[in-house]
Amino acid sequence: MFKKILVANRGEIALRIQRACRELGVKAVMVYSEADKEAKYVKLAEEAVCIGPAASPLSYLNMPAIISAAEVTDAEAIHPGYGFLSENADFAERVEKSGFQFIGPTPESIRIMGDKVSAKQAMIRAGVPCVPGSEGELPDDPVQIRRIAKAVGYPVIIKAAGGGGGRGMRVVHTEAALINAVQMTKAEAGAAFGNPAVYMEKFLQNPRHIEIQILADKFKNAVYLGERDCSMQRRHQKVIEEAPAPGIPRKLIDKIGERCVAACKKIGYRGAGTFEFLFENGEFYFIEMNTRVQVEHPVTEWVTGIDIVKTQIMVAAGEKLPFTQRQIEIRGHAIECRINAEDPFKFTPSPGRVTSWHMPGGPGVRVDSHVYNNYFVPPNYDSMIGKLIVHGDTREQALARMQTALNETVIEGINTNVPLHRELMVDAKFMQGGTNIHYLEHWLSQHKR
Ligand code: ADP
Repeated sequence: MFKKILVANRGEIALRIQRACRELGVKAVMVYSEADKEAKYVKLAEEAVCIGPAASPLSYLNMPAIISAAEVTDAEAIHPGYGFLSENADFAERVEKSGFQFIGPTPESIRIMGDKVSAKQAMIRAGVPCVPGSEGELPDDPVQIRRIAKAVGYPVIIKAAGGGGGRGMRVVHTEAALINAVQMTKAEAGAAFGNPAVYMEKFLQNPRHIEIQILADKFKNAVYLGERDCSMQRRHQKVIEEAPAPGIPRKLIDKIGERCVAACKKIGYRGAGTFEFLFENGEFYFIEMNTRVQVEHPVTEWVTGIDIVKTQIMVAAGEKLPFTQRQIEIRGHAIECRINAEDPFKFTPSPGRVTSWHMPGGPGVRVDSHVYNNYFVPPNYDSMIGKLIVHGDTREQALARMQTALNETVIEGINTNVPLHRELMVDAKFMQGGTNIHYLEHWLSQHKR
């Protein structure tokens, strides 16, 4: 096992990794920007290094600063968390070339999966079902683009090969709008991701977002830890996640899970990863793979009893996966609400001083957050300030626990989306389970205020 790890991230995930390190008896070096001096994990750290000013390009995306911090503190490995440099193959490569272990897959795996076109091609080769669409990148010729769209069938969605975070996508309903939409998406993708390549998929009308968590070691052992349902989304961004997915037969999950495991073995994948699918009419369609730990990993941890972050560190240190597929059992039901510093219904960001912070507790309640009373939420980063996760023997019990937990939650000084979660947890359709990816947007448009 490593003696010391550098945590190259901020916010709740930095604290989550710090906690995993403590349990493993590994020292954690925290890095922080000037805006994050007051963060809980920095105050709790045995060692912390300031890597630059608030702006992320100068700090959390600053590769030389992060690698130097690992050098001066004698860390052996770097955990990238999620977001920032976590899916940057060049960073993973520089980390390893500088003599550190990158806690994640190989740079090659990240590179293949980071380009959605090459990821889809790899999945098709590995026998994982994908959304029907263009074979690879769209050509420039409008005539050919129109022909592809006709064959795929409208509506179609134009997606950036290098896209992420719900950005770089455009739905097209008619041929008249097609070419303009392709050109606009290309221009945006070039500016936002430095890669103008786009591809086309059939736009599925009523799918659910179902994803499979996998873990793999360096010895080609791989397992899947069941699924998560992340269909409650706004602007393609997840708001509520749960495990297991309501109403999907275990047999179907096992079948797709086994495909994912086979794909991991085939591509020599190691570490934690997520295969994201759209699920419609009983069929799974792969959309992308995330080669890192995800925000919503706690719901899987709770139903499986497996610590995903600790396992990531263990397999990076060269240990074998400590369990086999047969030992993995899904128990009960877990739900996660992402707590964002924003207006609950208008979604304008709401950074600032938290004047009071009272989080819920009791049986089956977990809070992952770096925030505390009198903490200042900096305006420079993502609006997510924590996660509230509950577990119950059944989905009904989990819902009841989340309702109670949300009602106990008091956050003052800034706006948060807790009021939105309170309403969604008593919404009849959500309580029934199995809502599709458009449900939340639709609900919001009906509950305008
Ligand atoms: P990102 O990397 O930006 O998260 P994804 O490819 O994972 O992009 O897609 C994010 C979300 O966009 C999905 O969860 C889904 O809501 C929507 N989406 C993506 N592809 C399609 C599609 N072919 N049909 C319908 N919705 C889609």
